[in-house]
Amino acid sequence: MDVRQWVIGTCWRCEAPEVLVLWLGPVQTVIGSGPFQACQGCIRRLEELVAAYADQLPVHA
Ligand SMILES: [Zn+2]
Repeated sequence: MDVRQWVIGTCWRCEAPEVLVLWLGPVQTVIGSGPFQACQGCIRRLEELVAAYADQLPVHA
């Protein structure tokens, strides 16, 4: 089963309810773990952060 598909849910970054979200991976905290899913706008920003991380460049908001 391909879990990387858009579904209706709550964005775990901006907390927008009932939007199209994509599962990005497990999130791990000191109290447990869960599925990290984000909306299109947040994923766009996360992609910028990932690209900056990959380039080892300073990240500017
Ligand atoms: Zn979001």
